[in-house]
Amino acid sequence: MNFEEINNYLQNFTGTELRKDIPDLLSHLKKEALDNSDQDLAKNIWCLEQVYIVIAHYLNAFRHLHEKDFFEAWCQLDRAEIELSFLRRHFDYSGNKYNLGIIENHVLQLQKMFPYQYFFSRESVVKKWYCSICNEEISLRKSCGHKVGEIYNGEQCCRVAGDIEFLGIALVTDPFDKYTVIFPKGLDYNYSMLESLMVNFKDPFQIWELSITKKLKVEYEGAGKNRPCICNSGKKYKMCCLKSGNDLYDHYHINFFVDAPTTIIPVSEQFVHTWK
Ligand SMILES: [Zn+2]
Ligand SMILES: [Zn+2]
Repeated sequence: MNFEEINNYLQNFTGTELRKDIPDLLSHLKKEALDNSDQDLAKNIWCLEQVYIVIAHYLNAFRHLHEKDFFEAWCQLDRAEIELSFLRRHFDYSGNKYNLGIIENHVLQLQKMFPYQYFFSRESVVKKWYCSICNEEISLRKSCGHKVGEIYNGEQCCRVAGDIEFLGIALVTDPFDKYTVIFPKGLDYNYSMLESLMVNFKDPFQIWELSITKKLKVEYEGAGKNRPCICNSGKKYKMCCLKSGNDLYDHYHINFFVDAPTTIIPVSEQFVHTWK
């Protein structure tokens, strides 16, 4: 397969399993491009490599979700999100080119359906940074000239940490690294919403939409606004939970669409889930 053939393959891919030989083929093509000093082609090949990686992580996540390996699926979604953020800077996939729009959307929506609440964050000091392109040490005063995120020789430039001092670990709810989920003893995360989703989510490129709306908690139904609040705060309902929104919960609704969202035919209207 040449560059164009691989490009067409990835552009039109809607399966569940990617061809395994593509990374080798691309790396071979990249070597050729660099031998010919063709930096533009090498960069275009890097973009296709990224497209492949994003799709591969997404498909892995989809498979793990079906196998109920939820944490593994979570990590793969995280990888897909990160790799997509690298790609976005160099590659215009607007209009759902390479189906990346669907993937981007599904990654974000799936992440919202995970029950994870606690994460840890490593606190550390990096004493030395190196450039991934030239391996030179970088400091505030000394730069090698390579820009982080740019593509050189068909590789993305990043900073490599060397000599790290760990200071400690913090418990956080909005982590920098999403894979740092904490599984506290005695707490079982509830994956029922994802399990329900996967019953209908059969094809990784199927279109569905998650909408989250606020609904009134059952115990607050019919509560008088001037009466004492249900939560026993001693305040009036209208000055307490009504004001703070504590009387509402997030209601998750998933709509499946046939073909394109423009046709708007919910496959399963009863497919409504609540999640607290
Ligand atoms: Zn450098
Ligand atoms: Zn209250």
